[in-house]
Amino acid sequence: MIVQEERIRIMDEVANLVRSCGRCELCRGRTLAVPGQGIIDTDIVLIGEAPGHNEDQQGLPFIGASGQFLNELLISIGLDRQTVFITNVVKCRPPGNRDPLPDEIAACQPYLDTQIDTIDPTLVVTLGRYSMGRWFPNERISRIHGQPKSFGQRVVVPMYHPAAALHQGSLRATIEADFQRLPRFLAKARERKLAAAELPESTAQGRLF
Ligand code: URA
Ligand code: SF4
Repeated sequence: MIVQEERIRIMDEVANLVRSCGRCELCRGRTLAVPGQGIIDTDIVLIGEAPGHNEDQQGLPFIGASGQFLNELLISIGLDRQTVFITNVVKCRPPGNRDPLPDEIAACQPYLDTQIDTIDPTLVVTLGRYSMGRWFPNERISRIHGQPKSFGQRVVVPMYHPAAALHQGSLRATIEADFQRLPRFLAKARERKLAAAELPESTAQGRLF
């Protein structure tokens, strides 16, 4: 367990490194890099794809139309942006909102890795296929959306990207329904994590998902 001051320091350091990062080509076209937003004292992390136009202008994730929809989805299950941490697979806007390339995702990965390690979330929600690919390589979102999978004591739930859901009528109801199931997954994962923490190490191992 990393102490709180150290966690804050690490998250600030990541944000500063991202803001001046030149590790991939995406640094050339950005206005502002978008490290992520939210509280670090949370056990819920949501991961999108890449900043779009609005995010690039303001340096904050999910503040355009898909961000508005994401806010509604969070509120529908009693969460909001003050209770989660939100970030993206790549922290700089790809030109013309093109898909991020594999080498850009790889270059940016250490930042996301450190953010996840530092927050150590119980629940990770991936939004769209790029963040899904980190935990579910070669899977199809149409097959596994909304289905939780445990990785040690962490539960990862792949979701459609809110932008896709906004633009394709029937996906909207699907993502809304998938979000409704999150509180149950979270409660269960928290319970198991607590139970594991209360047991001796060797027994706890056998109780992991
Ligand atoms: N779409 C994303 O994937 N991330 C953002 O931050 C905004 C839109
Ligand atoms: Fe650096 Fe990531 Fe931005 Fe590329 S996308 S320049 S790796 S912060």
